[in-house]
Amino acid sequence: MIVLVSDSIIFVKRTAGKRLLAIDLKLQTILSEQDVLDLLNSTQEARIVSTLWSGDAFYETNCAAVHPDIDVDEFCKMQRTGRKVAARTVCTCIDEWIDSGKNGTRETASNRHESRAQQAALEAAAYWKTSRTVLETSTLSTLRLLPQDQSNFENPMWQARRIIALVLSSDLRLRIAKCRYKNCERPYFVFDKPNKTYEYGLFCCVEHNRSATVPTRVQARRRKFEDKLIAWAAKYVREHATPDWQANVIFKEKLAKRLTSLIAKEKAPTRDNVTKNWVTRNADQISQN
Ligand SMILES: [Zn+2]
Repeated sequence: MIVLVSDSIIFVKRTAGKRLLAIDLKLQTILSEQDVLDLLNSTQEARIVSTLWSGDAFYETNCAAVHPDIDVDEFCKMQRTGRKVAARTVCTCIDEWIDSGKNGTRETASNRHESRAQQAALEAAAYWKTSRTVLETSTLSTLRLLPQDQSNFENPMWQARRIIALVLSSDLRLRIAKCRYKNCERPYFVFDKPNKTYEYGLFCCVEHNRSATVPTRVQARRRKFEDKLIAWAAKYVREHATPDWQANVIFKEKLAKRLTSLIAKEKAPTRDNVTKNWVTRNADQISQN
């Protein structure tokens, strides 16, 4: 039974007379969904000081104790830069991954694909390929993935790749989303309908959906209604078969009046009336319809 994807691969205890199968392999992670969301939704400063970077206890060493001659200020400066770059990589890759499920304004999480998220795929692959595997001697049943470079206390880039790899290989791959409302303060969230197509993309809440999509939706409705008016006008023109109707002011006025009366019967029209000028403006389209 596979539980979750992880750094620690735990082999399930073997029952006598039964072969250990891949299906018995348990994978677990020490990275929680909330940790990932918190990192993504943080301000730049909060991302730098996030406890996520200090990571594995193996590296949580007091640098001064290991290297008594280290310049602590210089070390801290480097540490901040390293974390900043790593945090940015996580955001870029997760955004790229989420965007791979978009098609114009439409969004379907199950359409996300690594071929359209190449940086994310590369960083994730680098994590699985370049990490060292260490068999824990205390349990003899746990394989740990650790950074290659043991001299680096934090390995923020390794941590970044680890987060990207875990997101891309766990169920979070289809559940993580980013709110499209540009003023959203915590844009990253999880949702549970990966197969659903969202016509105007995903939003963290109804309010943000409304704020961001009302203008688009109003425009779409208006366009649709204009198309309907043109179709009605074309039908009227065909039925009355007036030669050279486009130059006939009286005919155009009659047509405008007819359309206005049809609009009055509509439940939610996007305009109240049509004038002779509207007919003139749309004459070509009416003729072609
Ligand atoms: Zn939002």
